[in-house]
Amino acid sequence: MLVLGPCSAESREQVLRTARELKEVCPNTPFIFRAGVWKPRTNPNTFQGIGEQALAWLQEVQQTYGLEVATEVATPEHVHKALQAGIDYLWIGARTSANPITVQSLCEALKANANAKAVLIKNPVNADAALWLGNIERLEQTAIPVIAIHRGCNHKPCWSMAHTVRLARPDIPMLLDPSHLSGDAEQIPALLRKIAPLHLDGAMIEIHPEPSNALSDAKQQLAPNQLRTLLEPLSNHSREVTDTELEWLRAEIDELDDQLWETLALRMDVSRRIGEWKKAHNVAPLQPQRYAEILDQRQLWATKNGMDAAFVKHLFDAIHAESLKRQE
Ligand code: PEP
Ligand code: MN
Repeated sequence: MLVLGPCSAESREQVLRTARELKEVCPNTPFIFRAGVWKPRTNPNTFQGIGEQALAWLQEVQQTYGLEVATEVATPEHVHKALQAGIDYLWIGARTSANPITVQSLCEALKANANAKAVLIKNPVNADAALWLGNIERLEQTAIPVIAIHRGCNHKPCWSMAHTVRLARPDIPMLLDPSHLSGDAEQIPALLRKIAPLHLDGAMIEIHPEPSNALSDAKQQLAPNQLRTLLEPLSNHSREVTDTELEWLRAEIDELDDQLWETLALRMDVSRRIGEWKKAHNVAPLQPQRYAEILDQRQLWATKNGMDAAFVKHLFDAIHAESLKRQE
């Protein structure tokens, strides 16, 4: 399943141009056309979406290009308006997905107009697999098919959360949203290559005819012609591969190594600042008593977590030596 289109519907011309160019690039690949109409933006002084008026542009995309269309809903009123306008698919964004009361109110609205083809639910902005699963269960009250979307947290993947949801609900299709997951168009090709080995069911990708002029999410949108080569690996998607579990576990390890690396970089920077303080106060970089305390404490944590004290000493000696270099 592919969901392609701009972050936001900005003008009639932009919406129709994106749909036309996508049809030219993917003449034989079925896709659903997306555009956000009501935008949950971080800052109130930025573009907030066109609102209801843009639903007519999505209807034009349906009629002119024979495409199914999707938009984001965050209130019961959005659900009523979108479904009255004949929008085929609705998605619930990451900020809305973080609030179970809002998701429940959307479920009530969906029950009252049960004509959506499916509801797509993004993971919440916080890495909470239980909340994402709870939202899936809530949406199942509506009898409308539910599709999960992994869009990561803080511009990073949360493979452990996605893996938990996959294992708990292998029956729920899961798409990858590499655009919001990375916030960076350059990272999209590598992320799309994860779809086949992890047996994900497709992708939602933000596409804008002129990404650098986009009114929202400009850094993460691709131009339609950039999509051409990216879709090829997706067509190799094989449901027969049997080592998916290993691929998921490796994705989790890669994510944790990334966090380790990031934490180490932050730690080195604090060491550098401590070095500046020591210089200003005429204190020697090496403070044996402080290091002995650090080692004792870290070895205690490690043994509590089933790790060998000698391994932890080895590791911290290396970290400490590297930190000291920043204090010379
Ligand atoms: C979007 O899809 O445009 C969007 C706002 O996504 P998210 O909820 O993942 O931030
Ligand atoms: Mn967006």
